[in-house]
Amino acid sequence: MMKKEINNDKDFKKKLIIDCEKCCGLCCVALYCMKSDGFPANKIAGKPCQNLMPDFRCAIHSKLVQSKMKGCLAYDCFGAGQKVTQDCFPAMNWNTHPKKANQIFDVFLVVFGLHQMLWYLIEASTLNLGEIINSEIDALIGENERMTALVPDDILNLDVNAYRLRVNELLKEISNTIANPTKKEQNRDFFGKDFKGADLDGKDFSMSLMIAANLEGCSLRGTNFLGADMRDVNIKNTDLSQSVFLTQMQINAAKGNSNTKLPDSLAYPKEWKGDSPFEERTVFDKTTRNYRRRKN
Ligand code: SF4
Ligand code: SF4
Repeated sequence: MMKKEINNDKDFKKKLIIDCEKCCGLCCVALYCMKSDGFPANKIAGKPCQNLMPDFRCAIHSKLVQSKMKGCLAYDCFGAGQKVTQDCFPAMNWNTHPKKANQIFDVFLVVFGLHQMLWYLIEASTLNLGEIINSEIDALIGENERMTALVPDDILNLDVNAYRLRVNELLKEISNTIANPTKKEQNRDFFGKDFKGADLDGKDFSMSLMIAANLEGCSLRGTNFLGADMRDVNIKNTDLSQSVFLTQMQINAAKGNSNTKLPDSLAYPKEWKGDSPFEERTVFDKTTRNYRRRKN
């Protein structure tokens, strides 16, 4: 399956690309960080990370790789950070208005979930799925945009779970539609599996455990990675430009190199920078954190 060229696709996704300069370091404060998930120590939700500076920059930003802060390196908020900082709470932040901090964090978590779903829906809209499914996608995208345009109190009253169920159902239907029937299988556990050089076109890896799998040199056209756990997957010298439902967080968590090809909407993690042409691409710069949950 080839993705459709949609002129505004990149602009449409633009607001889902993180812009940490326009954010008040929300993920460094709002989220719960677990030692087991690539952080040096547990951090409770709502407490600023000890490395977060007053200007919301990371004091050890240039040393995250050496510090083996995998969580910080891979995290991506789908643009929720700058959206909440700039649009939802333009005149305050968690530091200047500590009494509003919990509300700011709660809105951030809701917007994060909505932006994540929006990412998948926009990706789905680039596939050739026919009029009926396309109109369902468009309706869900419109609904999503109306929800994130609400004021904070109304965002917190949304029934996001009901919306999520509808999105998940549609994405499941889409995953079944685009999967190559000859490559279907029930197995979702590919931990450490060596696929090197295999033809995996149209393979459905959605929701699969793929930690440390080897995809080097595989053919991955129309391969579905929706929600797959890509930590330490080897994608060196591999073309993923026509793979579907990849996210920046998955790419940040995987192991690629300068010969890895990515879909246009995804950026190269700067630690992959090696020997070839990165000038054409946005280099993922302000690395942040990953795999954390808010403690309820
Ligand atoms: S990754 Fe973190 S700092 Fe960057 S925009 Fe998102 S929430 Fe803000
Ligand atoms: S990027 Fe990581 S280490 Fe740096 S301030 Fe944020 S949570 Fe802390």
